[in-house]
Amino acid sequence: MIQIPKGTKDMLPSEACLWHTVENAARETAELYGFKEIRTPTFEHTELFARGVGDASDIVTKEMYTFLDKGGRSVTLRPEGTAGVARAFVENGLQGGALPFKAYYLISAFRYERPQAGRLREFHQFGAELYGAASPAADAEAILLASRFLNELQIGDRVELRLNSIGCKTCRARYGEALRAYFKPHLSEMCEDCRTRYEKNPLRILDCKNEGCKRFTEGAPRMLDYLCDDCRAHFETLKGILDGAGVAYTVDPRIVRGLDYYSRTVFEFTTDLIGAQSTVLGGGRYDTLLEQMDAKPTPAVGFAAGLERLILVMDAKGVPLAERTSDVYLAGLDAASRGRALLLAEQLRGEGLIAECDLMDRSLKAQFKYADKLGAAFVAVIGESELEEGAAEVRDMSGSSSERVKFEALAQYIKGRLGRREEK
Ligand code: ATP
Ligand code: MG
Repeated sequence: MIQIPKGTKDMLPSEACLWHTVENAARETAELYGFKEIRTPTFEHTELFARGVGDASDIVTKEMYTFLDKGGRSVTLRPEGTAGVARAFVENGLQGGALPFKAYYLISAFRYERPQAGRLREFHQFGAELYGAASPAADAEAILLASRFLNELQIGDRVELRLNSIGCKTCRARYGEALRAYFKPHLSEMCEDCRTRYEKNPLRILDCKNEGCKRFTEGAPRMLDYLCDDCRAHFETLKGILDGAGVAYTVDPRIVRGLDYYSRTVFEFTTDLIGAQSTVLGGGRYDTLLEQMDAKPTPAVGFAAGLERLILVMDAKGVPLAERTSDVYLAGLDAASRGRALLLAEQLRGEGLIAECDLMDRSLKAQFKYADKLGAAFVAVIGESELEEGAAEVRDMSGSSSERVKFEALAQYIKGRLGRREEK
């Protein structure tokens, strides 16, 4: 049999509840802040990412799934969500609409990476984007949304918010020079990527995952000491808002984020529960992104969370999930009873109950076994005498008691019993 491609994963029905919990929390939380969903294509012109994500980023230099389509155009499976949203925002004339523009997405993203726990080649992201607002209140809104989302997933107590400012073009240029001066004597001992970063964007050296290079980043100059007055004021105001809202954070001068488009605020939520791939959510401000894409400059802020990593954290913490299993299984003893069971099941579904019946012509014993595997709350047995009486023998699967219930009263009976169980 052909096997699944390396770095990809199946989501099996047994895991669906977990995924839905995460996706529902994402949607519900984003909508509380007035963000609406946006869906953009899974592939875009390669140029969009080269420009949007940045030529010097790991993503563009090493990780993109790029190919020529049959028309000879270079297209790329999206490695992240922001570039596509930015393109859609401009292309659909939304820059001239009501601002701030707020959108969220739930997507698959593709990066050619070395697969590890929490690092896949196709992975999933929940992201939120806010365009048009330059004020630190917008940064705060993005962080508050992210933080509420993680709390909603019941992992807020196992993540830490790390915050930094990487300044604007002006103050970063000065800082870049300071970094170059600092790293220069160590360059020969650093990885090849860092030597390229040294030329193109020395800030990115701070994000190197290589232990050999990390050793040198510890004593590196801090961007925070180079911020211009405006960038400093922005950062101080943001911290003040977070303090006022009771959101705890650590200022971490080494957070720079992996993508080239960030400016001023950058942040990550990290965890110690899932090993090396410890960043579950990352974001920041990208005021120059639209300009970089030749559009009218518009300030922007946003974040993206990796759903696989969130799920690993939820697993590791043992977050309990409310999975809804079958409410009732309708067992039939003979052909006529099975036929009736099928129709009854259909009626119960119309009443909003999860109802299943035998599709395999199994014996009663085997049907009970299957109902048990399903986790059905009740089994309603129908045989010859029940058919005659117009009633089913209903067994509560959490005990051994059973009751005769008229077909027409079955829905109400089961709903009543389920309701009482929930109250307990
Ligand atoms: P990392 O430093 O771990 O490579 P990144 O900086 O490349 O992450 P972003 O581009 O900011 O990550 O993406 C946002 C989030 O998406 C990450 O914090 C992470 O949770 C998730 N993510 C990124 N790449 C992968 C991947 N290959 N597999 C699974 N999740 C990923
Ligand atoms: Mg990466």
